[in-house]
Amino acid sequence: MTKCTPSAMPRHILIVGAGVAGLACAISLSHELASINPDLEISVYEATSEHSSSGGAISLTPAAQRCLDELGVLSALNQMDSDQAGIEVDAIDLFSLQSGAALGPLRFTDEKGLGHGGYKGRRVLRSALSQAMLTVACRYPNITITYNKKLVEGYTASEDDDDDSTVTLCFEDGTTATGDLALGCDGVHSATRTQIVDPGNTSRYTGISFIQSMFDARRLASEIPFAQTAVHLTRSSSLLTSFCDQNRTRIFVAAIIHVNEPLVERYQARFSSSSSSSSSSSSATNDPTAQDSMNKSIRHLVRTHFGQTTLAYVRELIDKTDDWALYPVYQVRQSGSWHTGRVLLLGDAAHAMPPRDESAAYAIEDAILFSRLLATHHTDSSLATVFDEYETLRRATINKAFDASRRLWQSDIDRGLFPGQVRDLMAPAHESFSDLSVYSLTRELNQPLAGGNNPD
Ligand SMILES: Cc1cc2nc3c(=O)[nH]c(=O)nc-3n(C[C@H](O)[C@H](O)[C@H](O)COP(=O)(O)OP(=O)(O)OC[C@H]3O[C@@H](n4cnc5c(N)ncnc54)[C@H](O)[C@@H]3O)c2cc1C
Repeated sequence: MTKCTPSAMPRHILIVGAGVAGLACAISLSHELASINPDLEISVYEATSEHSSSGGAISLTPAAQRCLDELGVLSALNQMDSDQAGIEVDAIDLFSLQSGAALGPLRFTDEKGLGHGGYKGRRVLRSALSQAMLTVACRYPNITITYNKKLVEGYTASEDDDDDSTVTLCFEDGTTATGDLALGCDGVHSATRTQIVDPGNTSRYTGISFIQSMFDARRLASEIPFAQTAVHLTRSSSLLTSFCDQNRTRIFVAAIIHVNEPLVERYQARFSSSSSSSSSSSSATNDPTAQDSMNKSIRHLVRTHFGQTTLAYVRELIDKTDDWALYPVYQVRQSGSWHTGRVLLLGDAAHAMPPRDESAAYAIEDAILFSRLLATHHTDSSLATVFDEYETLRRATINKAFDASRRLWQSDIDRGLFPGQVRDLMAPAHESFSDLSVYSLTRELNQPLAGGNNPD
């Protein structure tokens, strides 16, 4: 007897990329759909050979933590060793780099010390977050993750095709995969976007780079005046320092500065590492002299910006750090297409924007929202209708985030000030992060999602 498959219900879902969005999608789809569709198969294809231990530490907002909790990832993270589980952040302490003056905290907590909606911020190694997500994904027998599968192209059924149409992905190693639905979660330089969904919509360098490193706090003789995280401001740049483990033994340090594109390109030409997040960095030279010279240039750049400070621990950090890595920040066009045929973009692939420490939260929310919509509407809608509904619900939030991001960064770039995000938050009307981005996102998330399938 032929089994009757509902119109929007895919049996085999292909996910491109095992980053934050890709793994959140796999977990969320399996959670929402497996009981409805016992034959469900979710295949994740990741370009890299293994899970990276690089990338430094990421800041998770209360909204991101709440989403991770819904997926079961937060408890997996909390069960990791204390050096991997990250550190909860009550507040970000602000300092003037030049004078050393404390400018006050940006709090993630209310007056009782409780996190917004029960969640504080967290700084965690990207590799640990990834490991926690993999741990949860591996609990679902219908999820498989295959490495060394770099998507190069694909083709999808047109909207006019009937319901038994499929989508096929083609990988660099010559293999292909065919399924009923493909989700492009392959980040800012997404091949799913540039080859399938929205050809021509390539990423663009924002002019901003993170130059970052990890530092052993035990090497620091100077007193450290912040509890978890600090941002040190100058008129043209900022320096982030954050513990990223509960025992406060490791400090993540990131200089957030304007770096001109020729220097970024020279850096990418010297280092093959994915640290650049660039799609064009694979042909790097391994010439040690050239690499050493580039390292010196990067170190010099950081020292020039932050070396002249009255804050002894910052001077020490800068002096004792040699291994800086450059992470240029790219963005995609705000109004680009998000879907075609049976392919949908999620996370940075759809909407990478200049950072406000919230992008990971958007990527995870994308995954949860889409999964719930698919679960809710699989019987009464086609996939195209679910995509449209998803976009209708999501576009306004993402546009708002893009606009806020542009306001915060671009106006300051124009005026030679930096970064607007922090300065704006310090204005009297905004006493903490909660007043702006973080809490607004948490509030939006607290609203029932369309379809009334909010598990809360
Ligand atoms: C310097 C920097 C600092 C940031 N700091 C923060 C922060 O503190 N907090 C925050 O919330 N956000 C931060 N962000 C943004 C955040 O990192 C991203 O929004 C988030 O990682 C997006 O997740 P994603 O899964 O969409 O993309 P990614 O995390 O980039 O994952 C994409 C995955 O797809 C894989 N892939 C790529 N191409 C292919 C292909 N062709 N085939 C198969 N697989 C492929 C990649 O290897 C990767 O595993 C920062 C960004 C930058 C650049």
